Amino acid sequence: MTKKKINILGATGSVGQSTIDVVAAHRDLFDPYLLSAHSKKDALVAAQKRVDATHAVLTQNGSAELLARLEHPVDITLAAIVGMAGLEPLLKAIPYAKVVAIANKEPLVAAGPLVLAEAKKHGTKILPVDSEHNAVFQVFEDTQRDKISRIILTASGGPFRTFSRDDMCDITPAQAIKHPNWSMGAKISVDSATMMNKALEIIEAHYLFDMPAERIDVLVHPQSVVHSMVEYVDGSVLAQMGAPDMKTPITYALGWPDRLTSPGQKLDFTKVSHLEFESPDLERFPALRLAYECLRDGQAAQLVLNAANEVAVAAFLNGEIGFLQIVETVERVLNDLEAQNISSLEALLDFDKNVRIYTRDVIISQ
Ligand code: NAD
Ligand code: MG
Repeated sequence: MTKKKINILGATGSVGQSTIDVVAAHRDLFDPYLLSAHSKKDALVAAQKRVDATHAVLTQNGSAELLARLEHPVDITLAAIVGMAGLEPLLKAIPYAKVVAIANKEPLVAAGPLVLAEAKKHGTKILPVDSEHNAVFQVFEDTQRDKISRIILTASGGPFRTFSRDDMCDITPAQAIKHPNWSMGAKISVDSATMMNKALEIIEAHYLFDMPAERIDVLVHPQSVVHSMVEYVDGSVLAQMGAPDMKTPITYALGWPDRLTSPGQKLDFTKVSHLEFESPDLERFPALRLAYECLRDGQAAQLVLNAANEVAVAAFLNGEIGFLQIVETVERVLNDLEAQNISSLEALLDFDKNVRIYTRDVIISQ
């Protein structure tokens, strides 16, 4: 059997390293072509050695080399860069890959129609790696889509699930990046703590599964055993379960349509004493409300939500604003900015840049 050629974008990150583990466990199946990382040279070199990748590219001094290297036919590109920085590599990768496995949710939130149009144009299959969307994908019968009543995204609720708004005032970056169930990069950890991660995932689900906002629900499920569910009109609910380990959705995406063994954890049901589910509290976690408002308001609002959040999270991690101010800043920017026409990539990138500048101004003036 010929090995599948694979690119891993963001190979030194949390998802990237889990992907390296999966690929290293299946050297007979994968032939790594290109790995990318932003600044961690030693980690990138180590990853390249471990899986014997043909090329490894650092992007901290510009992405020209990465974009050029992506113009090479491969079977799979796994997109695991963090933030909108992943959009251009993703768009560049789509025409040259048969499958693009996307962990990098921000480009889908801010530029979903553009990414999907590019995939459609080139016949490229988009597979979700984000655990919730991977779960939905596994139980979403596309031929029965008109019989699907709703998608139920589960959310752990993050480290501050039971905190009052008062308790949240003094949360430090160190507390916010310590997630109870998942080990992840700093940005998504803060997003999980504010529940902005679930807000982004509502929009991500809207684009990946072509479902309207009113058919995407969120349920808080602190044990992170049920990774998401699909409810059909007859009342059947199909769930995907597993250990909270990204190696399972990564392995699924890399093996699709086949199933491969995963080097990750397996779920031990005898150690799961109970499963809880509760409605999310939109008063304490207003990010979820913003996601639904942005789905109603359109793509420009979704871009603003993402860009303002990226800037606000960076400011929080840098000690410039408090925890509660992250989502407050995003809401203020959403209220202040007029929607723009973002039908071209240039217009979209230009608007994204302006939203970031405006968000910095809001932060500095606070
Ligand atoms: P991370 O911070 O651990 O890693 C990010 C990777 O992107 C690194 O390899 C880094 O070198 C690279 N990178 C950072 N800035 C870059 C830039 N400006 N240009 C190019 N490359 C850059 O992040 P992560 O936790 O692995 O998350 C990656 C993406 O996957 C995010 O979009 C996140 O929302 C999504 N995701 C992560 C998890 C998880 O468990 N960590 C789960 C689901 C989805
Ligand atoms: Mg997720």
